[in-house]
Amino acid sequence: MGNLSGKTALVTGGSRGIGRGIAERLGRDGALVAVHYGSNAAAAEETVASIVAKGGRAFAVGAELGVDGDVEKLVAGLDAGLGAREETAEKPALDILVHNAGLNFMGRPIEVLTPEEFDRMVAVNVKAPFFLTQALLPRMREGGRIINISSVSTRVASSGGSIGYPLTKGALDVFSRTLAKHLGPRGITVNAVGVGFTHTDMTAGALADPAHRESTVSRTALGRVGQAADIADAVAFLASDDARWITGTKVDVSGGVGL
Ligand code: NAP
Repeated sequence: MGNLSGKTALVTGGSRGIGRGIAERLGRDGALVAVHYGSNAAAAEETVASIVAKGGRAFAVGAELGVDGDVEKLVAGLDAGLGAREETAEKPALDILVHNAGLNFMGRPIEVLTPEEFDRMVAVNVKAPFFLTQALLPRMREGGRIINISSVSTRVASSGGSIGYPLTKGALDVFSRTLAKHLGPRGITVNAVGVGFTHTDMTAGALADPAHRESTVSRTALGRVGQAADIADAVAFLASDDARWITGTKVDVSGGVGL
């Protein structure tokens, strides 16, 4: 029995990359995990299988975010998955909500980023977490956790001049802090995680360039690129009872980028 036994968790974008690491870790800690994905159902099923193989419980939920009806579809899938596994009232309760799904048009500085790309990042990185939270708040249990996967790029300007993506993560940071105050009376904590350079599909292309990789490592105090597990372990801490007195803050999980 892990320390999250009896808890339910939703990890958006839990199928790949950092989200997968988080889903696997929360599953190992005993939570029943809803592994959300946008289009790659096979990756989500792989993540579910890896959780189940280690004795955990999980199911996949598909819903593309940033399009009309996204939140409704995700919540319906969540309800179906939780309802099928828990003997609960009509609307199953949720303990841990991790907003991880995110989009970054990399290498697109202000000179070239299009209004369509900008809107898409706002829709996936900001609007979706906002309205998904709105939809799920009524069923979040006292002592619940909302964890927003943000970025170190709100603290350190990108060397490539990318501004659109950091803007969306800055909005997520404001969301975290303000929502933390609002939900304090319900005993729900809300925190952001400032992720640094981490090896995932999102960054694989850039990190394949030796010069880019070297510059990334040289800006990181601990001298390497992060792995999904580095982030997942910090998220597991924030999700645990040990973090019950931490709310409204942003935890830098970057290996010391730009110190
Ligand atoms: P990733 O490898 O590209 O994985 C993204 C995940 O989000 C996938 O599960 C994907 O599902 C889902 N997703 C993306 N767009 C979606 C959409 N429109 N609708 C539904 N699901 C969607 O990304 P990652 O590197 O793990 O990043 C995870 C989070 O960490 C993001 O919020 C990112 O901004 C943040 N972050 C990452 C880094 C880094 O260095 N990697 C640094 C700072 C912050 P499908 O495959 O099914 O679409």
